[in-house]
Amino acid sequence: MSKPVTIVVGSHVWVENAELIWTDGEVLKINGEEAEIRTSDENTVTAKVSKLHPKDTEIPAGGVDDMTKLSYLHEPGVLHNLATRYEISEIYTYTGNILIAVNPFQTLSHLYDASMMKKYSGVPFGELSPHVFAIADAAYREMVNEGKSNSILVSGESGAGKTETTKMLMRYLAYLGGNAAAEGRTVEQQVLESNPVLEAFGNAKTVKNNNSSRFGKFVEIQFDNRGRISGAAIRTYLLERSRVCQISDFERNYHCFYLLCAAPEKEREKYKLVDPRSYHYLNQSSCYELVDIDDAQFYLSTRRAMTVIGISEEAIFRVVAAILHLGNIDFANGEDHDSSVIKDDQSLFHLQMAAELLMCVTQALLFRYLFFISFKELRMWCLSTYSYFRCNPRALEDALCKRVMITPEEIIKRSLDPLGATVSRDGLAKTIYSQLFNWLVDKINVSIGQDPSSKCLIGVLDIYGFESFKTNSFEQFCINYTNEKLQQHFNKHVFKTEQEEYTKEEIDWSYIEFVDNKDVLDLIEQKKGGIIALLDEACMFPKSTHETFSTKLYQTFKNNKRFIKPKLTRSDFTVVHYAGEVQYQSDQFLDKNKDYVVPEHRDLLSASKCPFVEGLFPPVSEEAAKSSKFSSISSRFRLQLQQLMETLNSTEPHYIRCIKPNNLLKPAVFENVSVIQQLRSGGVLEAVRIKCAGFPTYRNFSEFLTRFRILAPEVLKIECPENEACKKILEKMGLKDYQIGKTKVFLRVGQMAVLDAQRTLM
Ligand code: ATP
Ligand code: MG
Repeated sequence: MSKPVTIVVGSHVWVENAELIWTDGEVLKINGEEAEIRTSDENTVTAKVSKLHPKDTEIPAGGVDDMTKLSYLHEPGVLHNLATRYEISEIYTYTGNILIAVNPFQTLSHLYDASMMKKYSGVPFGELSPHVFAIADAAYREMVNEGKSNSILVSGESGAGKTETTKMLMRYLAYLGGNAAAEGRTVEQQVLESNPVLEAFGNAKTVKNNNSSRFGKFVEIQFDNRGRISGAAIRTYLLERSRVCQISDFERNYHCFYLLCAAPEKEREKYKLVDPRSYHYLNQSSCYELVDIDDAQFYLSTRRAMTVIGISEEAIFRVVAAILHLGNIDFANGEDHDSSVIKDDQSLFHLQMAAELLMCVTQALLFRYLFFISFKELRMWCLSTYSYFRCNPRALEDALCKRVMITPEEIIKRSLDPLGATVSRDGLAKTIYSQLFNWLVDKINVSIGQDPSSKCLIGVLDIYGFESFKTNSFEQFCINYTNEKLQQHFNKHVFKTEQEEYTKEEIDWSYIEFVDNKDVLDLIEQKKGGIIALLDEACMFPKSTHETFSTKLYQTFKNNKRFIKPKLTRSDFTVVHYAGEVQYQSDQFLDKNKDYVVPEHRDLLSASKCPFVEGLFPPVSEEAAKSSKFSSISSRFRLQLQQLMETLNSTEPHYIRCIKPNNLLKPAVFENVSVIQQLRSGGVLEAVRIKCAGFPTYRNFSEFLTRFRILAPEVLKIECPENEACKKILEKMGLKDYQIGKTKVFLRVGQMAVLDAQRTLM
């Protein structure tokens, strides 16, 4: 616990400074409430005494490996400790059981090699320097020793290192639970190899991260009763669909497009692909290459990884190529102004190519409308399309440019104008790509295989961190909603459960206040009248606009302190998130919330002669097609999150908070302002306080005795109450500072490890 310290003249202190956030210095004078401080960067500043924080001058040169070892626990102390360690490439620091990982932005291979894995294996938590392996090891041991499922939640902002950390965790778990004696492709090998495949299709270069995951991921590793990996399942969340058609400058589309353009000549020729600069979906940005990554090599390694996980479908790349061709189909005005035609020969070529690669035929339309056309018309139609039967660009063109309306009397084909056709084209590209991604995930899951008899699992969550940009849309809303959920989980775990436990057990405990975010979650997800519910309602009324939706929000939440109507806008709204205020622009919320595949697109693709493409679009039943029930992305996401939370709640959680030390993506640069914000929004600072003051490990008496009776067999020979017996064991082991509650023993960080180590020695 922080020592009560009085600031006096000569005290070493931290003083707040707008630029660095905190600077250290020495108090020169105190004048009532005001103090004059000489800072280490040779400035003299004045500040309120109450705003100063004492500085620990006895801190070891390289900092401390656990924040709870700091004598003074406050923001500047934590920040300084991280910075000091980062300077000497110590990127990991504990805060009790939470691991803080600062992205080194350089390869530190010695940290992750085989000898390191060996070193960490089976060593009690806290005995070695902080490391991802130690977290994975703790999760694994807990699972094996206590038969309990565990989860590791990796969080942090874009580029902070979540995915890299997840990879290390997986490698280590594969090392612990791998089956070296097995022949052929092992489960762990497939789990590891599924990652590059998912990355090729779900990651892209953004301004924040050269390999940014554009989807959330929860990997569930199943173990048999001997602690061996016996299966795995990957769940993914909300792939960013808009990227397929729209990219900002300095960013790239999904990696798979570029690596296919760099495939060996023979392959490219098959798909008639040329330089990425020729494709509209890629040339909206001037960025084509990745530093240090050769797309040709990337292509080969992705194919290899696909083989390892048993994906041999060449058709995947046909579909990727088809999307690039699709994006190059432009439209011009048709005969009348409301219609559109393929613009020129170039576009015609790409139309032909896309249709050929997707193997489009007109069959579905035929069956769908067979009823309405005469025999003569049918014969004419069959003859004229016979030559296209393998591939029919007309079918694709129609699906892009026309909409069919079926009335009881007739079928009306309405033309779209060029803009409408372009929107239709992009919609088709996005639909195909997201179906392709979902297919890949399903296929990976089938290939790796599930173990239904597995009782224990370790789940690893790698999901997007809190986002707040200049403009924030539906995607940021969903991402921040996820983070609110995870924050609540974190709050509940770290704060609530401990406090409640202490109260129940009547043990000596001073309360620490923390901010609960239940009210923000209610605002967002409440079934009756939350933002998501109101959004769905708006999507169901044909006359709604984003403005009517926003007005409804303003009316409903005018007295909600987590909701603000920003001045000078008619449709923005601000949510006061746990990590700060975010202003959302509602103009695309309604469109983006609708999960809708244009029937013409579905008909076209479900009739494809390519079984792979056809499989991506199973035809919808007549009933579903007629049903006007709209499918909401946000509601489905809410359900997915609820399921994720249920899974997480049934596990013992471990937290890794990744920190991005700078926005230059460079090694050895530590930007205080950004780091402190991340520490605040990640809840690390609150955790520091509570962890240090509390007793993070507790066991009820009988559990404790079962586990540790071996340490003092003589104790159990004497008749005495369970609490006395526990106390005797602890005393014998020389532990101090623990607490004995009404039904449980409460231990300080690391004390359990001491007891376990003794048990192992017996
Ligand atoms: P996003 O949310 O955008 O997916 P992320 O948190 O998953 O971001 P990563 O892709 O894991 O971020 O990391 C970004 C980059 O930082 C990596 O490509 C790598 O260059 C570097 N990096 C992260 N962690 C490490 C590490 N432990 N060692 C070396 N480099 C790392
Ligand atoms: Mg990532």
